[in-house]
Amino acid sequence: MQPDHDVVIVGAGFGGMGAAIEFRRLGIDNIAILEREDDLGGTWHVNHYPGLAVDIASVTYSYSFAPNPYWSRMFAPGTELKRYAEHIADTYDLKRHMEFGTIVESAEWDDAEQLWQVITSDGAVRTTRYLVTATGFLSQPHTPDLPGMDSFAGSVLHTAAWDDGHDLTGERVAIIGTGATAVQLIPEIAERADELTVFQRTPIWVVPKLDFPIPATVQRLFATVPLTQRAARLVSTSLLELLMVVGVLHYKQAKPGNKAAALLAKAHLRRQVRDPDTRRKLTPSYDFGCKRPTFSNTYFAAFNQPHVTLQTSPIARVEADRIVTADGTETVVDTLVLATGFDLWDTNFPAIRIIGLQGRDLGRWWRDNRFQAYEGITVPRFPNLLSLNSPYSYSGLSYFTTIESQMKHIRRLFGELRRRDTSTFEVTDAANDAFLAQVTDDLQSSVFYTGNCASARSYYFNQHGEAALLRPNSTLTTLREMDRFPLDAYTYR
Ligand code: NAP
Repeated sequence: MQPDHDVVIVGAGFGGMGAAIEFRRLGIDNIAILEREDDLGGTWHVNHYPGLAVDIASVTYSYSFAPNPYWSRMFAPGTELKRYAEHIADTYDLKRHMEFGTIVESAEWDDAEQLWQVITSDGAVRTTRYLVTATGFLSQPHTPDLPGMDSFAGSVLHTAAWDDGHDLTGERVAIIGTGATAVQLIPEIAERADELTVFQRTPIWVVPKLDFPIPATVQRLFATVPLTQRAARLVSTSLLELLMVVGVLHYKQAKPGNKAAALLAKAHLRRQVRDPDTRRKLTPSYDFGCKRPTFSNTYFAAFNQPHVTLQTSPIARVEADRIVTADGTETVVDTLVLATGFDLWDTNFPAIRIIGLQGRDLGRWWRDNRFQAYEGITVPRFPNLLSLNSPYSYSGLSYFTTIESQMKHIRRLFGELRRRDTSTFEVTDAANDAFLAQVTDDLQSSVFYTGNCASARSYYFNQHGEAALLRPNSTLTTLREMDRFPLDAYTYR
């Protein structure tokens, strides 16, 4: 049976577009990119809260094969990332593959026909030889289930569903959460609101952000002599790599590196916040790197302002016009901002229902066993599935490293399919088990298992207490392994 498509990609963010570019390079053109939102760009389409910017230098946070010489700043604002996504879609002629407002609910492997049946929310079924899930890690917004939340009569804004028309000027605003999103948003709200109360459960490590506008002359230099931008990328990527590999992954061997990063963050806090009590509240009690650290020059300073209050007593309940904390403090609120992040381990992994061979349900199997995926991309009993946002797939700090390493994996795997003149692949249990054993072993040196992460409440850890998100090796190793994985890691039919 001829399927409707050669490839269905779920998600039109940078991950899905990277996969589509790779399939096009392989000469595969019958691709459908199904996207639940009304436009492309993934995270950078969905998120548009004030202050949104990339916090990995833009020369690094972009495809290495499609540099953008015209980033306006060292860390570009979100709108430029969205424009870059559109530019990529145009350059690689991807828009004609995209279908927006198409919600994929489930996919089931049909072993008799050797294809996937993909079911969308309108009940339609389409078939595809290969299924690629590129649904992101941080794509299912988390809304806290606070007592009395339903009774709140004011406005509620989740950062992942920002209402651009809502002017916070003159309002009494409460924000719940102090993750990377809140770090960008709080200084912006503080500029507008009459009163801002920040409800913090866990403080976050924040280091200075070396941010500045990129002069037009430098942009022209990057455009005319691309080697100069490649050199800038090399420097920025190397610094991030150092932070990740030394500070986080080799904590056991290089504890002073991790401690130095924490000292830098503490010095930053001391320089920016005058009140010692506020400083104490903003100081994490877990090791640097247990939770994703952030970069900001304006976050800490926002707490010096008289109309900004840091509330660390736990939220007891929400009432029609206020939040009441465990210590009895009542804060009257016009607008409640939820910077409460995303649900990774309960509603993601995978974001859709996926049924493989012998009825294996990927979500259930991951939860009943350990979260796992060979090289962070394929899973036994799921033939012809490339699950881009899998356990242990995230390599390095810039998501683009993960994307490009997975593009390499696709290239090598499909090269072998072609050489053998076959069309179905499945990773072997042996290869998958060996990879899981390797990452488990490598993680033992990381801050996650050797450091003090007990109080971090980090999304790097899953419900079993395993740090199953990050791939514990350098990005160079990841890129090399994706280029050289043993071809007998797969069976071919
Ligand atoms: P997050 O890091 O998961 O932070 C969520 C915050 O909400 C945490 O402070 C959490 O507290 C708090 N929270 C959740 N439920 C709560 C509850 N019931 N009561 C009180 N507090 C609650 O989410 P995020 O800030 O959206 O960031 C997610 C990730 O997005 C980042 O780590 C980063 O990877 C990415 N991001 C990147 C950029 C960028 O510039 N590249 C910008 C923003 C975000 P606990 O810590 O106590 O759970």
